[in-house]
Amino acid sequence: ASAKLVDQEIARLRKEDRDFDLAAFEQRAQALFARIMDGREKGELPPRHEVSDGVYRRELAMREIEREHGVRLVHTAIHPLEVRTIGAFHDRFFDSLHVRFSFSSRVTELSTGKNLATTRSPEEQVTTVVWVFVRRPGAKTKKGLPAGSCPNCGAPFSGGATNLCSHCQAIGNSGQYDWVLAQELSFDAYRGPWREFTGLEQMNERDPGFCPEVSEDRAALIFWKWILARTRRDPDQLRRVATPSMLQETAAEAEAYRGRGERRWIWDVQVEGVDLVLIDHDTDEDKDEVCLRVRWRGRVGDFSEGSRPVVPVSSQSTVLTLVRESGVKTDMRTGVSSDRCHKCKAAHGEADTVKCSYCGAPLEPGKHDFVLDGAHGWETWMSVRRQRAEVAKTVEPYLPSFKFADERLRLLQMMAAMARADGRVDSSERALLKLCAKRWGVGFRDVAPMLDCHQPPEFDLEPGSWLARSFLEAVITAAAIDGQIDSKERALILRLARRLRIAAPSREALAARAEQVKATRRQVELDS
Ligand SMILES: [Zn+2]
Ligand SMILES: [Zn+2]
Repeated sequence: ASAKLVDQEIARLRKEDRDFDLAAFEQRAQALFARIMDGREKGELPPRHEVSDGVYRRELAMREIEREHGVRLVHTAIHPLEVRTIGAFHDRFFDSLHVRFSFSSRVTELSTGKNLATTRSPEEQVTTVVWVFVRRPGAKTKKGLPAGSCPNCGAPFSGGATNLCSHCQAIGNSGQYDWVLAQELSFDAYRGPWREFTGLEQMNERDPGFCPEVSEDRAALIFWKWILARTRRDPDQLRRVATPSMLQETAAEAEAYRGRGERRWIWDVQVEGVDLVLIDHDTDEDKDEVCLRVRWRGRVGDFSEGSRPVVPVSSQSTVLTLVRESGVKTDMRTGVSSDRCHKCKAAHGEADTVKCSYCGAPLEPGKHDFVLDGAHGWETWMSVRRQRAEVAKTVEPYLPSFKFADERLRLLQMMAAMARADGRVDSSERALLKLCAKRWGVGFRDVAPMLDCHQPPEFDLEPGSWLARSFLEAVITAAAIDGQIDSKERALILRLARRLRIAAPSREALAARAEQVKATRRQVELDS
């Protein structure tokens, strides 16, 4: 059945691109495979204009990790056994072809000087991998184009450090002109494209160029930087691609390792899939948020410096949370080559500079593209999400009376204005308002100005009404979300009650509500 689907898809492709020929494509893929594997054996980097930035970054990171550990893991005596296109897919952003390669080789560990290497006798083994090639719809096959040519103008490609064609400035590895290797996966855990997310349409309304393929490649490149930062205890590796809080977290972790005199051994890493799992627009923080799950396996363990740990291969599933400022749009030109200056499009160099080394533009992480804001194990990520959903559910019963977002916004603004009217707004009151805004799907940026305004908007929530009562109830539940209602929160609630002419809830009633929320949370934790 799968072969039939591939045939159908190839037929469709040939309608769009008359000169496309599967056999010729597979021949080219195999030649690229041979060049890359051969280069690896010699310690050379892959042809940068034929692979995505995620693939290129893997190579750079592996090289650094090998240097760090003083060992290289190489395939020698490679004999190809099979090349076969096992998947062909398209969406409105990219066509993709999934090619399976089987080869026999000897896997050897070579010492590069440090004493962490072990002499492992090379064993012959068969390895099967899937390489994913992508190309933009509308691109056409250029017959007889020799390897190493610019896929746009046909001149010999000499991209240099900027990795732009020196003749026509084309970004050869964007996917715009020709097939680009975008993923290397081990076949054992291959699942094909994984498209179980919602929110793509809403995201495309704001950003028409946003697509799974580009996000997945961006996540792959960030994943390798993250792996390298942890292996080297060096948060600077993430400087260009992480938020300040993520950098801080990584720095703290590195410090802790240093303090214990330990390192992290990360070795023999195989990525099994990078899949977009969540697309969100955080109105509270006013940013786009996407989550991508990286399935991978490798040998991971802590060790004290100098002695190499013996760790088995373990399966890992890491969810990377990437964020960018609201309003940023995907650059269609760069495609799966996003590790570039937002201004002049030159490929970034290796230095962790904060501005482009070609045009001097400040890099401003998060203002032009997605950057890393968190990395969690899949199970942790799932349980946090489930917990949030449950807690949100306990607030929900009060929401129907404020069904429309603008209504909830107005109420929150009033709440803010009331807090302001009674004096200085302290940080816990601010936090409570922020929390309410988040729970109610209202942008805090629309509420915050009320905290500084001297003339509160007209207050037309009828005092003593049922609506006023359920409003106060919702505020109380929001305050209790952390399992307790502290004195500042209680003071605000009492002030609101007075204004709304509702009998002030007793200290015991508030404590009971907090207990109730706490119990719900505990139950959720037990269930997950
Ligand atoms: Zn060119
Ligand atoms: Zn630049």
